[in-house]
Amino acid sequence: MSNGRFHNISEAERLFALQHTDANLQLAKEISVKERITRIRKIERYLLDERHMAEWTDALRQDLGRAPEESRVIELLPFLVACKHVYDNLHGWVKDHPAGTPLAMAGLKGWTRYEPKGHVLIISPWNYPLQLTVLPLIHAIAAGNVVLIKPSEISAHTSAFIDRMIGDLFDEREVAVVEGDVPTTTALLNKPWHHIFFTGSPAVGRIVMKAAAEHLTSVTLELGGKSPVIVHDSYDITKAARDIAWAKLLNKGQTCIAPDYALIPDGELEDFLKAYRSAVDRMYDPQSQGLKRAKDYGRMVDGRNFKRVKALIVDAVAKGARIAIGGDMIEDERFIDPHVLIDVTPDMGVMREEIFGPVLPVLTYRDVKEVPQMIARLERPLSLYILSHDRKATEYLLRTTTAGTTAINELMVTTSNPMVPFGGINNSGIGKAGGHRSFVEFSNERGIQKRTWGTLAPLKPPFKPFFIKWAMRLSRL
Ligand code: NAD
Repeated sequence: MSNGRFHNISEAERLFALQHTDANLQLAKEISVKERITRIRKIERYLLDERHMAEWTDALRQDLGRAPEESRVIELLPFLVACKHVYDNLHGWVKDHPAGTPLAMAGLKGWTRYEPKGHVLIISPWNYPLQLTVLPLIHAIAAGNVVLIKPSEISAHTSAFIDRMIGDLFDEREVAVVEGDVPTTTALLNKPWHHIFFTGSPAVGRIVMKAAAEHLTSVTLELGGKSPVIVHDSYDITKAARDIAWAKLLNKGQTCIAPDYALIPDGELEDFLKAYRSAVDRMYDPQSQGLKRAKDYGRMVDGRNFKRVKALIVDAVAKGARIAIGGDMIEDERFIDPHVLIDVTPDMGVMREEIFGPVLPVLTYRDVKEVPQMIARLERPLSLYILSHDRKATEYLLRTTTAGTTAINELMVTTSNPMVPFGGINNSGIGKAGGHRSFVEFSNERGIQKRTWGTLAPLKPPFKPFFIKWAMRLSRL
């Protein structure tokens, strides 16, 4: 345990070596399903304990300025849903899955066995620092792996809590935490892991994938990008604006699946802005005391991110965008009020980079047929949202766009159902997660075949054309 300080590289290497022995990995492989569930329940009970709950919600308040209630909703609820899903399904997931046999291979019986990949590294980001650490962790444990966690150095209070929790609950040989920044992570990435599960930015995702390539380590990359929300004219614009304001401002826009920018029908902009403004007031400032004093309106995570988002706004305005809502930024407090930008153009940083802040560029379109092209100018999104009551238009948008995940007539739910795969595509991620998909990412799907009767002898040299001809016929039946 680091007690809130960074581990140095040699401590990280000690933990790697301690966990990475054949004996330790074999021990983990033989752990029963019951014991895996017991370990997951230990984490669940720990987080639900009132004293610990006060500790981690306070850590999140210190890291992200977040209200404890918001943390309970967005960090804990998805975790509880995922735990229940694992308890209900793990016995079925670990069973050998029988496979069929093509006629030409008659006499061979095939099946898939799910065995742990072995030693896995989980690297998590700061924006949902608890959820995005413990969710992969429970699936890695469910699959029977030995785990090392590298939480974000930016959300330092939450990372220290995670470190204490893991130290209280696990032997270092089972699960351990390394707290550290880039040099420590780089040292860890140089090791021959059996799998790396990374959640973070596309830029660091590339670094992780390059390092993994050195050892041909498999990776799951849960990344980010620009997730659009498309509002069709069949959808009530006031409701759309309210929902988008909620989704955009959750965690102050610092959510990977937040709508990054909105596409709305031409002619509905005024109504959209009016409804967005009143939704902000209703959610965060019902007493009209000013957002700076609103207890539920958090802050940018650090000075670097404050400056980054401010620079995006300044750049957009310099290039001709207008601030339709907002305009208040206080550096000392890392405070940025909800901004809506209009008249944005593709050359602005705000339309090229992931915003990751409470800033919503709004673009308008005349015909829904313009929308796919507007989206295709950018990298493929993690989540794409469609608000539409027109079935044909919805289908058209699904058919003509590509995204890791999509939600129709609801926002921010793309991560929440463990029975639906979550993840990006290309720049927004590689591999899917959630429920069984996470279990599979952490498992080696070992294909096994057993000869029960027959033989391959007729196909072995010296070759007999008659048998080869028959084999070719059979293989097409
Ligand atoms: P980040 O990529 O900067 O950092 C993520 C992790 O990588 C941290 O633990 C950090 O210590 C480590 N890291 C940073 N720089 C590194 C380097 N040069 N070498 C090795 N390791 C390094 O991401 P972030 O700022 O913590 O989080 C925000 C990003 O994460 C956004 O792009 C967001 O969209 C994405 N995200 C994605 C998901 C998802 O599920 N797809 C969820 C949350 C956040």
